[in-house]
Amino acid sequence: MLRYTSFDIVFQEIPGEVTLAFNISGCPNRCKGCHSPHLQTNSGEKLTEAVIIDLLELYGSAITCVCFMGGDNEPERVVRYAQFVRHCNKKAAWYSGKSTIHDNAPQFFDYIKIGDYREELGGLHSTTTNQRLYKIENGTMIDITQSMQRSNRNNTQLNR
Ligand code: SF4
Repeated sequence: MLRYTSFDIVFQEIPGEVTLAFNISGCPNRCKGCHSPHLQTNSGEKLTEAVIIDLLELYGSAITCVCFMGGDNEPERVVRYAQFVRHCNKKAAWYSGKSTIHDNAPQFFDYIKIGDYREELGGLHSTTTNQRLYKIENGTMIDITQSMQRSNRNNTQLNR
């Protein structure tokens, strides 16, 4: 069961999209210098399809994308929820802390971020980051990491 500690409407995490982002707990990654250690605990509310649909109905057409910030503890459920999000006519995104892309990601997601957080290299905003953000079009992975670094040069740090 996935749990989330909070959700936000965000504008920077996925370029060009208005995104409903769920901060998912139970993170199995143990990044040195983790920026959100509370997400390593199994805390928060259950994330269900009912929760997702309630929020999509609340925010309506203002939302273009749903992003799962985490979920590496139950990747198959994240993939299933991505299918549900697309069924609701929204784009699906995943911020994963893994270094490899889930086999089903190119099929079911429109965006995916991979890579653990390394304090010395920085998050997606940093030009030295090890993390990558991909846009997926017809199964083709397009690396759009540099656009994050341009658009976020003067903004707050993006991590996961
Ligand atoms: S993926 Fe994010 S929440 Fe998980 S350990 Fe790494 S920095 Fe912390």
